[in-house]
Amino acid sequence: MWDSREVRSASLPDLIRMCAPLVKELEVTVLRQDATTPQGERRSSDAVPMMFRIGAAEVVDEITVVLRSILGAWVHEQKRPVFRMLTVPELVASLHPLRDWVVKHQDAEAWHDRLLEQCLAGLGQIDIAPERVFAGTCPSAGCGVELWPAIGEDVVVCPRCEVQVDVRARRREGLRRIEAYEAPLSRVVDTLRAAGEQITYEQARKWTTRRDAHDRVMLNAVGQDQRGTRLYRLGDVRAVMMRTTRRKARSLRA
Ligand SMILES: [Zn+2]
Repeated sequence: MWDSREVRSASLPDLIRMCAPLVKELEVTVLRQDATTPQGERRSSDAVPMMFRIGAAEVVDEITVVLRSILGAWVHEQKRPVFRMLTVPELVASLHPLRDWVVKHQDAEAWHDRLLEQCLAGLGQIDIAPERVFAGTCPSAGCGVELWPAIGEDVVVCPRCEVQVDVRARRREGLRRIEAYEAPLSRVVDTLRAAGEQITYEQARKWTTRRDAHDRVMLNAVGQDQRGTRLYRLGDVRAVMMRTTRRKARSLRA
């Protein structure tokens, strides 16, 4: 894959050509991000926990939109109303013979800027190591760089303005905001783990049968989905997790 300097200096036809391999890489990234994103709620920004981002999928969508609008402009000028919904590789292939027309078009500069923005965003998505999690954007005024600390890292230094950000506080805040999130236990555990919490599915599953000192089950389901899978509230799982951790810390000190 190219670096951002190559992308920045690419001509519009080159940028279009780059979109095919870039989108292929992004599809892989989307799969990886899906693994840590509550399924079925990817498009609902209220429901998706803030530390997840569906960036790669959005970049693919955006690239598709730009390429379609370029080909659409050509089709429109040719007065040839045949315009199927092409995939990105098909769009790139269709636009290849139209290079000369593309660069001379009145919208060429706008297309170039939009594609450049998306290609750079796409590169950023691909570069993210799988063991990193999104912790929001840099809080410094006017910075806004995305912060991707490694799992377990408590402080992250902004790569642009070098401000230190307390990742733990941000995650706590993020998790508080999604306490009401209800999902199958494995997904709740995935969500907590991706947010940097140390919890295993095995542990959580034990809590669903284990009883506490008052003979109450430690973790109860709040309902079930259409397929009969039991749903747990993220806040409940996290509360049990924190009680257990505190107890463990106390017994270690004792
Ligand atoms: Zn910053």
